[in-house]
Amino acid sequence: MQACQRCGGQKEFGTRGSRFCTECRRLHGDTVQQLEQERSRRRQQRVLEGKLADGKRIKYRSKDVPDGQKWCARCQEFRPVTSFPLRKEGGKPAAYCKPCQRFYNTERRIKLVFGLTWDEYELLLACQDGKCAICGGRPRRHMLAVDHDHKTGEIRGLLCSRCNHKLLGSANDDPARLRRAADYLEEFAAREVFGDPKYVPGTAPSDREVA
Ligand SMILES: [Zn+2]
Ligand SMILES: [Zn+2]
Ligand SMILES: [Zn+2]
Ligand SMILES: [Zn+2]
Repeated sequence: MQACQRCGGQKEFGTRGSRFCTECRRLHGDTVQQLEQERSRRRQQRVLEGKLADGKRIKYRSKDVPDGQKWCARCQEFRPVTSFPLRKEGGKPAAYCKPCQRFYNTERRIKLVFGLTWDEYELLLACQDGKCAICGGRPRRHMLAVDHDHKTGEIRGLLCSRCNHKLLGSANDDPARLRRAADYLEEFAAREVFGDPKYVPGTAPSDREVA
């Protein structure tokens, strides 16, 4: 029996070759399906535009290059020469345009550091509805980090950097400590000792009414 790639459980798989257990597939089938539909839609569009034929890249002929433009080998489009980063050696524009280069770097880093393909990263993201698994935030500037157990190396999921480093990091990834912290926020010593709520100066409800 294989382990589910999402929950890690040794459960029923139903469909042969599926990476997710029946339960996970039912729960997350919709998001995963959406993602796959979107991907195939984009692909079909490209085929229609004549940029991909039989999955092979179509080479452009140099006489077709519009003035001041260059072919991006990744997005398969002509783009202004200025949207290409310059090679460190020779100073000529690189093969990929800037957005493609950025995406390529990210993809390569995720693969190198975490061993995840971009498809796998997107699967995780879809399972989490694009949100941090703890605070539910959607960071705009940075992508969600791949959180992993530093002792076993097992990948757990995607977290924003605050939850990853500040929340889990300061608790040393210790579930018991985090549970005690949550309990503490709801039940604390001062209430027990003083009976009535005790406030720091200037914050008591009676003070606020006067102000
Ligand atoms: Zn599962
Ligand atoms: Zn490009
Ligand atoms: Zn978060
Ligand atoms: Zn880490």
